[in-house]
Amino acid sequence: MRIGHGYDVHRLVEGRRLILGGVDIPHTTGLLGHSDADVLTHAIMDAILGALGLGDIGRHFPDTDPAYAGADSLGLAARLVPMMAEAGLSVGNIDATVIAQAPKLAPYLPQMKDNLARALGTTPDRINIKATTEEHLGFTGEKLGIAAHAVCLLI
Ligand code: MG
Repeated sequence: MRIGHGYDVHRLVEGRRLILGGVDIPHTTGLLGHSDADVLTHAIMDAILGALGLGDIGRHFPDTDPAYAGADSLGLAARLVPMMAEAGLSVGNIDATVIAQAPKLAPYLPQMKDNLARALGTTPDRINIKATTEEHLGFTGEKLGIAAHAVCLLI
């Protein structure tokens, strides 16, 4: 077994889409980034890369590389599957938390699970996604950005 942890933050701005776990969520602001800025998928990818002992997402998919401009993060996540396979590992389980003051994410969590499971070559029952606010405190509470934490176990 190998354990990994991931954390990511993206800034919320007007004129961008809000994509979390591959779900395009209607909202007044969206996440800024070189790729689609899917902060949840990025945190999960970093957890997997951490468990593999292979550094982080920035090393494998640099945000200075034009190839990743506007990239679909679920597509990048799918590229971790052969890396896990090469190590003789696959997803045991993933637990992640999205920290956002708004919008309410509960209605979208099942679709996020399905999307991430498909990308990562596993089943939705191995993926848990939670959403919380930080009670109007800090940058997430002030709706300046969204953060995500993830841990994963590879088996
Ligand atoms: Mg990121």
